[in-house]
Amino acid sequence: MYYLSTRNNNIKVSSMQAIAQGISKDSGLFVPEHFPRYSFDTLKDFSKLNYTDLAVKIFGDFLSDFSSDSLQDCVNKAYTADKFGTDEPVRCIDLVNTNASILELWHGPTAAFKDMALQILPHFLSNSLKKVSNGKTAVILTATSGDTGKAALEGFKNAENIKIMVFYPEDGVSNMQKLQMQTQDGDNVYVCAVKGNFDDVQTGIKKIFTDSDCNQKLSQNNMMFSSANSINWGRLLPQVIYYFYSYCDLIRKGKITKESEKVNIVVPTGNFGNILSAYYAGKMGLPINKLICASNSNNVLTDFINTGIYNKNRKFYMTMSPSMDILVSSNLERLIYDLTDGDDKKVARWMTELSESGQYEVDKEIKDKLQNLFFADFSTEEDTKNTIKTIFDKYNYLSDTHTAVALDVYDKYLSKTGDYDTNTIIASTASPYKFSKDVILALNETAADGCLDDFDIIDKLSKITNTQIVKPIASLKGKKPVFKDSCQKEALKTVVLNNLNIKE
Ligand SMILES: *Cc1c(COP(=O)(O)O)cnc(C)c1O
Repeated sequence: MYYLSTRNNNIKVSSMQAIAQGISKDSGLFVPEHFPRYSFDTLKDFSKLNYTDLAVKIFGDFLSDFSSDSLQDCVNKAYTADKFGTDEPVRCIDLVNTNASILELWHGPTAAFKDMALQILPHFLSNSLKKVSNGKTAVILTATSGDTGKAALEGFKNAENIKIMVFYPEDGVSNMQKLQMQTQDGDNVYVCAVKGNFDDVQTGIKKIFTDSDCNQKLSQNNMMFSSANSINWGRLLPQVIYYFYSYCDLIRKGKITKESEKVNIVVPTGNFGNILSAYYAGKMGLPINKLICASNSNNVLTDFINTGIYNKNRKFYMTMSPSMDILVSSNLERLIYDLTDGDDKKVARWMTELSESGQYEVDKEIKDKLQNLFFADFSTEEDTKNTIKTIFDKYNYLSDTHTAVALDVYDKYLSKTGDYDTNTIIASTASPYKFSKDVILALNETAADGCLDDFDIIDKLSKITNTQIVKPIASLKGKKPVFKDSCQKEALKTVVLNNLNIKE
């Protein structure tokens, strides 16, 4: 199986090359040249497999230059009971008296869904580097607004031939997220705060990636830059697995017995990676009725799906679901490529328009396809807050702020369509304990009064909801920060080179 660039079909690479490189040289994204298709009988067979065996099976159909032994090895190292709490890394929870099933994706080491991909990507990458990069050391540079940075650190710590450096905006992450990163262990990690906002950090890091002097110096020292963000195919593929797994769970429970019984999938969406994986699962034979794209107040995708016009020229809101505060959803490019049946010229043109004017409009045909497949709506801050309380009161289920956006948009979908009968999978992307303050205030406006710090709030949340504090958050208490550096945004290049012991 080969991978093509969304902006030029003549660029064709192996899966190892696609993973090692991250992004194509023409700035396009790598997509598989074709997709395997599983029949309903195959899906019934899949329902007899555990998570890791299912993953090895599906990975094998995409990563054809990996041996099945090495895929098995990657999977075994990634999804251990030690890291994910139980034998199965995800959990499917039914909401009583509804057709909704919550797919909890946050039982990994950093309590957010990004662990599902970032626990396995380093193993894919180590294997790929051995084959395609002559033993060079990969240097992963990551700009983060919170969740990605910690998940990448946990995934890449102590990985062979890889160094990882994470930069975050000094005042732009939550206290808990900062503490998670500052207390990171591992002999190949570095974390530094940057004086500036997330855009400053992101822009600074992108500049280093393409700085020819920097790249040359790395090369002379037998190193190369690589990326762990969600444009890497090695991050999307692992996310396809859990949609099959949760569909199989409905088969196991007898809720689905034949192919005509389709499912809805609701995804709280930011960079469009998670919902794109659900779309790909549909292409591979998972019977989907609607993909429900849930946004917060940064509702650029809601507008796009409903009008066919993507316009990032709008106000940016900082919300209580910060991992979805995004105006350019990178992975949308892969969907557009697919809906145009691989029209690389058109994709390249629209992406140029986006970067030059901040806007593009797709053809009527594409818009019709989009609206056929997707339902899109958004949740305001008030809606999100109310949803956390309603869902807890009604179902005794405690959701985080991102998951609440999905639950709210699902509710709006039900009101608009009356589709109460279709089995629906709702992706839950973070533990409520990662966003304790907003969650506790949604439940009870005075509940945090008298709490002295974030750990006080966490204890209180546990007490009033009778739920258990997740390990990755509980274990932070009392830990001392190791990484206390902070730098000016202009000094990023110096910091990176110094850290690699390379002279400027
Ligand atoms: C990253 C993230 C999202 C958004 O996922 P995308 O793949 O970027 O659309 C949603 N919720 C949480 C908690 C996240 O960390």
